[in-house]
Amino acid sequence: MTKVVSLRILLLSIVVVLVACNRDQDATPARAQSQPPAAAADASVPKLSLPPDNGPPPAIDSARAMQYVKEIVKFGPRPIGSANHKRVEDYLISHLKGDAVEEDTFTADTPEGKFPVRNIIAKFPGSRDGIIVIASHYDTNYPLRNTSYIGANDGASSSALLLEIANQLRGKKRDGYSVWLVWDDAEEAIRTWSDADSLYGIRHLAQKWQADGTLKQIKAFLLADMIGDADLNIDRDLNSTPWLEEVVYQSATRLGYQSHFFARDNQVSDDHLPFMQRGVPCADLIDFDYGYNNVFWHTPQDTLDKLSPKSLEIVGSTILETVNILDKMDPLPPK
Ligand SMILES: [Zn+2]
Repeated sequence: MTKVVSLRILLLSIVVVLVACNRDQDATPARAQSQPPAAAADASVPKLSLPPDNGPPPAIDSARAMQYVKEIVKFGPRPIGSANHKRVEDYLISHLKGDAVEEDTFTADTPEGKFPVRNIIAKFPGSRDGIIVIASHYDTNYPLRNTSYIGANDGASSSALLLEIANQLRGKKRDGYSVWLVWDDAEEAIRTWSDADSLYGIRHLAQKWQADGTLKQIKAFLLADMIGDADLNIDRDLNSTPWLEEVVYQSATRLGYQSHFFARDNQVSDDHLPFMQRGVPCADLIDFDYGYNNVFWHTPQDTLDKLSPKSLEIVGSTILETVNILDKMDPLPPK
């Protein structure tokens, strides 16, 4: 059975790589390669001693989160530099009234010229020294800007989930680390995904926080991307930090959601990379199998009907449970 599964995943990985190659020719970013389920990866799963599971499960209002997805998608395509992009910036900020909001704005130099970029950060203080970042990009794919592409899953689902997480954090002083929510901008490639042409917003923020000393306070960086898929299968990302991925998995297990996590290994280039490169423990929660062979990804078929409020709930509560566990881990494993 294991061999059958391995072969299937191997074949899938070949297909994904071939699709990615085709996409490259179409100047559409390819940013992930499926990996065969390596025994080495399983062997490297760290043994963690986690605090006991004695709290109530975290709350997420999945209907409200889904309503946010619908409202974001209603703006239409939201590529950087567009009027719709400005509308979604205003929409996000309007939902963070009364919160401690910081903006990181700059001009990105891209293959298509200069664009204004705005990262939006909402800070929820805790009693413990240190910060946990939860991030999502909110721009939509630039090369598809003149199509009907609305990025319901890719951009809207995770950005909406962060708004709902803000609702859950608001008004209470956390008995744990501070949590900073980051809606990062200009994640998508302008032409073809590369180190230089991608992740404009989050690269800028990582550099800024390194320069001003904030980076040293960040205990973990949790990323949500493409998490609204009704057929939810979050990948185990081999570019993330193994011990933190394991905390995510244990969190999902405590909530009974483990069957939606880590059936497949993947190696994903995503917003967490600038933080990984700077030594911050990171976990990318991404389902990079959106439709058979990821066929809906970066196409006008990335629409609301493919999503489920339950998926938002599964990922949102798993993220919050992960934060709750991190709050009680002392010390955190070495980076
Ligand atoms: Zn994308």
